Amino acid sequence: MRRRRPLFAANWKMHKSPQEARAYVTAFLPEAESLVASVDIVLLAPFIDLECVCDALSGSTIGFGAQDCFWEREGAFTGEVSASMLKKIGCSHCVVGHSERRRLFGDTDETVGRKVTALLAEDITPIVCVGESLDENRAGRTAERVQEQLRAGLGYLSDAERAVLVIAYEPVWAIGTGLADNPKSANNTIQTIRSAAGGLGEARILYGGSMTAENSAAFCAESDIDGGLVGSASLDPNKFVRLIASATQVFDAR
Ligand code: PEP
Repeated sequence: MRRRRPLFAANWKMHKSPQEARAYVTAFLPEAESLVASVDIVLLAPFIDLECVCDALSGSTIGFGAQDCFWEREGAFTGEVSASMLKKIGCSHCVVGHSERRRLFGDTDETVGRKVTALLAEDITPIVCVGESLDENRAGRTAERVQEQLRAGLGYLSDAERAVLVIAYEPVWAIGTGLADNPKSANNTIQTIRSAAGGLGEARILYGGSMTAENSAAFCAESDIDGGLVGSASLDPNKFVRLIASATQVFDAR
C-alpha cells in the first residue's frame, strides 16, 4: 500500500488580485472537491490574497499557503511577513527556497533553513525547493547540487522534523520554460534526495518545472514522485484540475 499521500501545490507567483483569487477558488472548488479524496491540494497565493482565499475555501479540505516568510516572529523588518502571522491567517503550507527567490532576492541555504525552522515551530508545512542550474545539469552535478542544498539547509533537523517536510525538486532550467525534465531522470534525482539525507524516506517529494495536464501522469507514474509544484499550469483553475485528475489515475495504478 502507498504510504505517502500525493500532493499538488499551485504556485501562483506574483499573479492574481484578491478579486481574481476569489473567482479562481469559486471556479476551482466544485471540480477539485472530488479529487481531494485521493490527493492533497494546496493553493500558494500572494500575501494580499490569503485572507480572500481562506474565506473562499471555508468548509473545504483544500489547503492554502504563502510563497515565502521571514524567520522572526515580529519586529522592525519592513516588508516581511512572519511564519507566526501566516499561522494566524490559517496557512497550512509555505514555500521556501524557490529558485526565483534564491536568484532574485538573495535566499541562501542558510536563510532557507531558518525559515523552515520558523515554519515548523508554527506547525506550518514547509515546501522546500531544491534544484540544479542548467550548467550544473550539463556538468553532471545534479545529485551533488541537490544534496548540498539539503545538507546545508536541513542538515540540523531531526528525523521526525524531516518526515513532515515537503521537498520540491525543481530543475531551475525547467521552471517556466516549457522544457520539463524527463520523468525517469527526475525520479532518479528524487530517489537520490530520498536516500541521501537521513529521514527523507517518509517526506513527500514533488516534481516541479513545466508540469502540465499532458505530462503530469508520466511524472506521477514514477515510483518516488509524490505530486507536483505547479506554476503556469496552475493559474487557470480548469487546467489545474485537469493536471491533477490525469495524475490521480496513475497514482491509483502505481
Ligand atoms: C514553479 O514556479 O515552481 C514552477 C514549477 O513553475 P512552472 O510550472 O511554470 O514551471
